[in-house]
Amino acid sequence: MVQRLTLRRRLSYNTASNKRRIVRTPGGRLVYQYVKKAKQIPKCGHCKVKLRGVAPARSRERSQQARRLKMVNRAYGGVLCHKCVKERIVRAFLIEEQKIVVKLMKSQEASSKGKKTAAK
Ligand SMILES: [Zn+2]
Repeated sequence: MVQRLTLRRRLSYNTASNKRRIVRTPGGRLVYQYVKKAKQIPKCGHCKVKLRGVAPARSRERSQQARRLKMVNRAYGGVLCHKCVKERIVRAFLIEEQKIVVKLMKSQEASSKGKKTAAK
């Protein structure tokens, strides 16, 4: 017996959003089941690693999700991975330190020059 499967929606093209699976119902019929696109886990914005602690979802689903499902409780949680955040913090700190050192050097130079000119 050949069973004819008919589309259940009007869209008849084999597009990404129109993927189907054949499923046998309890009544023994074969029926198309429409398959949703795969959910994805957001990636780190810097190193592209999958973020931990963030639930996989389609974009529409994500917009409707609770905050706790979309982020972790950290600066840039849900956007960057912990390693990249750490790196950025350390880098910012070192840059600030460098600025202070430069300032200090300049002030020391200025004071020593001032003394020299005073001695002459
Ligand atoms: Zn990263």
